[in-house]
Amino acid sequence: MIKFEHPAAIQAHLADLVKAGKQIGFVPTMGALHHGHMALIKQAKQENDVVICSIFVNPLQFNRKEDLTNYPNRITEDTKMLSEVDCDILFTPSKDELYANQKEIKFNFGSIAQGMEAEYRPGHFEGVAAVIERFLSILTPDRAYFGEKDFQQLAIVRWVKSHFNFSTEIIGCETVRDENGLAMSSRNYLLDKEDYTTASQIYQLMTYCQSQLGKQAPQELAKSCFEKLKENFRPEYFEIVDEHSLEPIKQWEDSKNPRVFVAAYLKSVRLIDNMSLNKPSQA
Ligand code: AMP
Repeated sequence: MIKFEHPAAIQAHLADLVKAGKQIGFVPTMGALHHGHMALIKQAKQENDVVICSIFVNPLQFNRKEDLTNYPNRITEDTKMLSEVDCDILFTPSKDELYANQKEIKFNFGSIAQGMEAEYRPGHFEGVAAVIERFLSILTPDRAYFGEKDFQQLAIVRWVKSHFNFSTEIIGCETVRDENGLAMSSRNYLLDKEDYTTASQIYQLMTYCQSQLGKQAPQELAKSCFEKLKENFRPEYFEIVDEHSLEPIKQWEDSKNPRVFVAAYLKSVRLIDNMSLNKPSQA
């Protein structure tokens, strides 16, 4: 695996690969890698000749300073994991260099950024859009891979692609879960053993919603799950929305693709998850 820190250096390397007709896949991450990230890298390896993984903890997308300070740093373990899955390139830019040629962006996301993460993390998606614009401009990959774990973020990434007319194909990948259904997350490294078990209640409530599809009214169902979560978590939201507009569903007939979204604190760790209510569970 080749490592690059400087945008100009990786661009020179990529120019040669593109000249040689190679297809480039890109997986952006903030490090503290786990099996969810590895699934993205493996899919990118299958569909491209060369795969770049970036590790960059983007300060612009953190609305709480303590979240940024506490974000796990595991660069030694991460490098080892990436080598083991034969990732070709690791890109770890500095903030100053990455944002050196930043464009003025007018954010006009529409309904996809009106609730949920947008409401509880003001400025978060502006930071996400800014960093994705930088990465796609610098690397111009053929394909970029993102997890459905951050489903609202994926909608923002698609907005960035179409807003700036990037030719990169944006590929959404299913959420990878542990054996109890808990979505893999870098933040899980901050949970102790007991909390880790408790955390899977989020998954249980989401699968309960799947079982209630077409039965209980969506908003009543969401409210009762929110109340249930309060027993062990500090929930921020529990929403049943249409997966395209991301707007809450009043009746099941309002959406062909209902999806449940959750954000809740377990002690000081903020967990998010989501699941389609149409598909059977993937755990
Ligand atoms: P992060 O390092 O948290 O910014 O995540 C980097 C990428 O990995 C994002 O596209 C995430 O959506 C994706 N990702 C994180 N957790 C998972 C998971 N459990 N399954 C699939 N993709 C994931």
